[in-house]
Amino acid sequence: MNEDSIRSLFRPWPWVLLIFLPLAACQMDEPAYTTRFMAFGTLIDLSIIGVDRTTAEQAASALEQDFAFMHQAWHAWDPGPLGRVNRLITHKEGFSVPPSVLPLIRLGKLYEEQSGGLFNPAIGRLIDLWGFHSDAPECRPPPPPEAIRALLKSAPGMSDLDLEGIMLRSRNPVVQLDFGAFGKGYGIDLAIAHLREMGIRNAIINAGGDLRAIGDRGGRPWRIAIRRPSGGVLAIVEVSGDESVFTSGDYERNFVYEGETYHHIIDPRTGYPAKGSRSVTVLHTDAATADAAATALFVAGPENWVHVARSMGIKYVLLMDNTGTMHMTPAMARRVKFMEQEPDIKLSEPL
Ligand code: AMP
Ligand code: MG
Repeated sequence: MNEDSIRSLFRPWPWVLLIFLPLAACQMDEPAYTTRFMAFGTLIDLSIIGVDRTTAEQAASALEQDFAFMHQAWHAWDPGPLGRVNRLITHKEGFSVPPSVLPLIRLGKLYEEQSGGLFNPAIGRLIDLWGFHSDAPECRPPPPPEAIRALLKSAPGMSDLDLEGIMLRSRNPVVQLDFGAFGKGYGIDLAIAHLREMGIRNAIINAGGDLRAIGDRGGRPWRIAIRRPSGGVLAIVEVSGDESVFTSGDYERNFVYEGETYHHIIDPRTGYPAKGSRSVTVLHTDAATADAAATALFVAGPENWVHVARSMGIKYVLLMDNTGTMHMTPAMARRVKFMEQEPDIKLSEPL
C-alpha cells in the first residue's frame, strides 16, 4: 500500500453527503457538531451529537492526528512501519513487528482463514502488478499472464507468516502485505474507541461512504445511503446503536482496456479481478470486519457468498451481481429500502 493507495482508502465521493439525511418531520433537540477534515489526502465526515462544542472540536482534532499517524504507519512501500515490515519479510530471518502493524497482521490472518483464502492481504505483489497501488490506474493492457501465473505459483498467503509474540518470520519471500481492504475499517474502529474514551456516545465517522455509527442522532437512527454501482443511490438503510456499513464495488478503482473493465478486487485463485459481483454492502458491529467481509464476499460472488458470510460471522449482506439481481440475507432484506422499483431479489437462508 503506497501513498496513493492509502489515500484511496479515504477517497471522497460527492454522494457521501446523502448519508446525513435527517428523518423528515423529526425535531433535533441535542447539539449536533459536524466537521470534515483531510486525512490520507481526502475528506472524513465526522458528526458528533450531545456534547459541548469544545469537546467536539477537541475530538475532531484528536481524530485528525490519529488518522495522520495511521497514514504514516500503514504505507506498504514507503519507509514507514509497514514499509519496513514488507522489506524485512523478503528475508528468511525473523524480526520484531512495530506495534502499529501487529494488530493488522493478526486480523489479516484471521480474515484469510475465515474466508478460505478469498480475502488475502498477502497478495501485495499481485495488486502492484495490476497497477492498483496507484489511485488512478492507467489504461494499459492487463499484466502478462505468465507474470500472474508466476505469482500464483508462489502462492503468498498470511499463513506463510509465523508470528510469535512480536517476532515475525515469513516462509515465503513473495508475501507483501497490503491492508487496503480493511485498513480503513480498522482505522475507523480505533477512532471510535478514541471518541468513546473522550466520553462521546453518539457519533458517525464516514470515510468516503464507508462508516461506523455509534448511538443515534438525537433519538433517531442515522440514515445511510448505499451507492448504486452506476451512480446515484441504490437504497437506504437505518442504523443506530453501534454498527458499521461498508461497501466494496467494481467502480471504486478500475481501468478499461479494449472495452474490458479491470477492477481492483482480485480473486487470489485466478490472479484476475473477481467476476460475478458489482458491489457488496455489509453491516456489522466493527468496521474492520465489515470492511474485510465486503471485499471477501465480493470475491466469493453470487454463488459462494453465503458460506463465507457465515464463517466470518456476518448477518447483513446485500450483493448486487453483474445481472443486477440483489442477493440478500433475510435480515438485510428487512432493513434496506430501495430507492426505485423493487429490483430482482434473491434471498439466502437466514444466517
Ligand atoms: P476494498 O475496496 O475494501 O474492497 O479493498 C480493495 C483493496 O484491497 C484493493 O485495492 C487491494 O489493495 C486490496 N485487495 C484486492 N483484492 C484483495 C483480496 N482478495 N484480499 C485482500 N485484499 C485485496
Ligand atoms: Mg474492504
